[in-house]
Amino acid sequence: MIVSTQKNIDQILTALDGGSRVFIVGCAKCATVCKSGGEEEVFGMQEELTVAGKEVTGTIVIDEACHILRTGRDLRSRREQVDLADFLLVLSCGAGIQSVAEACDKKVVAGTDSRFLGNIRRFGQFEQRCSLCGDCRLNETGGVCPVTVCAKGLLNGPCGGMQDGSCEVETDNRCAWVTIYERLERQQRSGQLDIATPARDYIHEAHPGSLKLEK
Ligand code: SF4
Ligand code: SF4
Repeated sequence: MIVSTQKNIDQILTALDGGSRVFIVGCAKCATVCKSGGEEEVFGMQEELTVAGKEVTGTIVIDEACHILRTGRDLRSRREQVDLADFLLVLSCGAGIQSVAEACDKKVVAGTDSRFLGNIRRFGQFEQRCSLCGDCRLNETGGVCPVTVCAKGLLNGPCGGMQDGSCEVETDNRCAWVTIYERLERQQRSGQLDIATPARDYIHEAHPGSLKLEK
């Protein structure tokens, strides 16, 4: 899931400067799970904006704000409230914010910062495990991502700073390459580490990415 966090209210009010009427958009998927833009947060934002003297013309929590066509359809179903607003404040990941911006001609305000693609450890605890590099190396590393989990993104670690299994950059973290070694050793595949991994080809990270499935 995409992990996002809400911007603080002062940043949001600054972005809303110059208008008094706001329509708030949330997302029922990732932004709900990480509590940056679900029903509860949209309601909370409505209250905060009202206290700050803004008029909230309406709210909506879109099922999947990153879905461009559905977002457009859902906003059209609230056309009157949207038309009354000076701004649309969006509490979703950056993809959802851009769906909203594409669907209307109003000024769209981002109410969140998109942080990373996250695994969920347990409720309210997210961990970055993949940086979407487009050239997955997990087959060679026992399922531990060196690009993301190693603080330096080393493909042939560990670096010289590893100490007693801990990462030199963040000593509370286990060195990713120690974890990789231990995982491969348990699977009797540690010989894999004798083979140097080729450098990354950053063409795989060229953006904007797009993919169209063949029927
Ligand atoms: S190597 Fe890491 S960053 Fe790249 S696709 Fe695989 S898990 Fe994601
Ligand atoms: S100590 Fe390990 S995880 Fe930390 S930067 Fe070096 S190789 Fe990467």
